[in-house]
Amino acid sequence: MKRRIIACCLAASMVLGLAGCMEEEGYEGYEADYSEEQYESSEETEDEEYNSESETTYSDSEYGYPYDNHLGTAKELEGKIAVVSIFVNDATTGWNFESEADQQLDALIYKDLEIATDYLENVSKSYGKDVEFIYDWKQYPELAMDLEIKELDYRYCDDYFDDFNNAATSSIDQNVQTAKILSDVGAEQVIYMMYFNTPSTNTTTSLTSFCYEAEITYEICFMFMNCEGYPECPSHFAHEMLHTFGVPDLYTAADFGITQEYVDYAANSGLNDIMRINEDPQTGEYLYDSIANEVTDITAYYAGLTDYSETVNEWGFAPSQH
Ligand SMILES: [Zn+2]
Repeated sequence: MKRRIIACCLAASMVLGLAGCMEEEGYEGYEADYSEEQYESSEETEDEEYNSESETTYSDSEYGYPYDNHLGTAKELEGKIAVVSIFVNDATTGWNFESEADQQLDALIYKDLEIATDYLENVSKSYGKDVEFIYDWKQYPELAMDLEIKELDYRYCDDYFDDFNNAATSSIDQNVQTAKILSDVGAEQVIYMMYFNTPSTNTTTSLTSFCYEAEITYEICFMFMNCEGYPECPSHFAHEMLHTFGVPDLYTAADFGITQEYVDYAANSGLNDIMRINEDPQTGEYLYDSIANEVTDITAYYAGLTDYSETVNEWGFAPSQH
């Protein structure tokens, strides 16, 4: 009982402090409205204060993707597309933005996103499609967040990809207010970028979970920010983002009936397609201030930028998802 009385007094004096000229009648009215039951302790009073300053509480359903996800959360290279940046602390890696190295990597990610989205917007424009990626977490702070996902271990993502993707998906479902973010930025499509602060000993390349044949909830680019000593470059970002629109790799025979024969042919002819190589074809080096790779007819077709590809027709590959 004593604690209740203390809490009540604290709440009352706070109101008086805020409204010094409040009339006696008003103060009594306040007392009547706020019963003892609502203020169990002074700690709870502080919690109430904190909550009243925070945003509306969202129900579980509002964490999910609020639109039809028939083609995933990134469907067409058209219109406004939100890019949600998630800095992941997984089982063995994490971010410490007090450290200069991580601050530099954070700045690199921002620049990678800027160059990759510019590139994709310009490519789309050349095919008559207006697209705007909204990735700028300086303008919209809700587009970037840290998440601790200890069920994830980047070292096993290749061997246990389904488990890895499921853990990532359920973490997004529980922690990312996708509906609110989309409404804030005025977009109806979204790509989730998960950044892992991998050591230079990492040999696993970034990969993307995208809606192609499997039923997936969210389209996520898993960016392993250091691979074999090289930080991820803008071309890698654009490559992974293109996957979310249903574009296959061209360096390996995996999706859409793309054959090893074609993969070998493309390699031998030096096809400079962003889904085949990410180095500058002239120097063999990664570029950090531009992208030297192209979107050739096959990639444009699978991205939904065209409805015909000579290559796909000639080789008899499967139709695009668009
Ligand atoms: Zn790929």
